Amino acid sequence: MNVHEYQAKNILDSFGLPILKGAVAYTAEEAEQAAAEIANELWVVKAQIHAGGRGKAGGVILARSVAEVKAAAEKLLNKVLVTHQTGPEGQNINRIFIEEGCNIKREFYISLVLNRAERRLCIVASTEGGVDIEEVAKNTPKKIIKEGIDPVLGVMPYQGRKLAFALGLPTKTHNAFCSILKGLYDAANELDTDMIEINPFVLTADDELVALDAKVSFDDNALYRHPEIEALRDEAEEDPAELEAKKHDLNYVKLDGTIGCMVNGAGLAMATMDIVKLHGASPANFLDVGGGATKEKVEAAFKIILSDKNVKAVLINIFGGIMRCDIIAEGIIAAAKEIKLNVPMVVRLQGTNHELGKKILAESGLAVITADDLDDAAHKVVEASSKAAA
Ligand code: GDP
Ligand code: MN
Repeated sequence: MNVHEYQAKNILDSFGLPILKGAVAYTAEEAEQAAAEIANELWVVKAQIHAGGRGKAGGVILARSVAEVKAAAEKLLNKVLVTHQTGPEGQNINRIFIEEGCNIKREFYISLVLNRAERRLCIVASTEGGVDIEEVAKNTPKKIIKEGIDPVLGVMPYQGRKLAFALGLPTKTHNAFCSILKGLYDAANELDTDMIEINPFVLTADDELVALDAKVSFDDNALYRHPEIEALRDEAEEDPAELEAKKHDLNYVKLDGTIGCMVNGAGLAMATMDIVKLHGASPANFLDVGGGATKEKVEAAFKIILSDKNVKAVLINIFGGIMRCDIIAEGIIAAAKEIKLNVPMVVRLQGTNHELGKKILAESGLAVITADDLDDAAHKVVEASSKAAA
């Protein structure tokens, strides 16, 4: 789960990270009021959307008076911001963050992510902050510094000094920098984050360290331990299909291909995506309906798949173990009755009650293409989708 920048900063503030004064606003009037309390010379008005690249896209505006803050707020609120991370449809700006401005001397990059290979959290830092870190990693990988943290020892002072020297921070900031790293590490451990990213982390003209941007994402599987984090969820920022899937306890991830996939079991779902790729098309989604799915769940899953306008053909690949193939068939038919099925559908059913499942589908009047094995099914669905597209 992702949160907004201002929420991330609030959280990091409680772990001792240096944050500038700021307030969230939903209207231009709120922005104006907040501005008067926050600063008196320089403000920054920032679009709050769950995507980066706002600066380059015009979503971060510097203001030199309360009136300019209000004008910036009016310019941003209820507009769609398109950044390189939002996709072409962009994201609506419902909230903005009004922050005290600062004079930047240097911009750095700092993040804390899990290094799975080393099985520990890892600090990633770079002198090339503010810009796209992916570009830095690609073009000048030497400028990316990584420091793994031993889970028994935590962040050691020597690691803080090593990074501070590598970034060229003034000596007098080194102690503060070490505390910041410790704060990041504590936040990650206590709150079960997937990633904390500060870009830019800046050195101001007065040689102070400040987290100027903050992005925190949380491990969904650990959210039950943090109801106060869960409460920060902004549904307006999430994909409607993924939200709907969550309501039905389905594991669904939207992708950008054309083959809608309904599968049971995460492993089989991954294999299905691979084989669709192997046959030259791309999956429109990852969807695991789970082991003991009910008819209602299958129906919901089917509707979610068909609500995606990119879907040119559907592949249903079920191995009935705990799951019964006849239940799947009934769910598909119930859903197809409600929404017109106007794309070809390939079904591969194996396992418990597969004969019955196939019979139910065959007698339903739906245009079903049956397949016996996974390879055959993938071949047929890719062929059907290219015919549908032609
Ligand atoms: P992002 O583009 O979505 O990652 O948004 P950021 O929060 O990183 O802001 C983008 C850029 O705006 C930063 O890299 C800074 O250069 C600039 N910026 C943000 N806050 C301030 C500020 O207080 N003063 C100045 N001078 N620039 C700022
Ligand atoms: Mn940023």
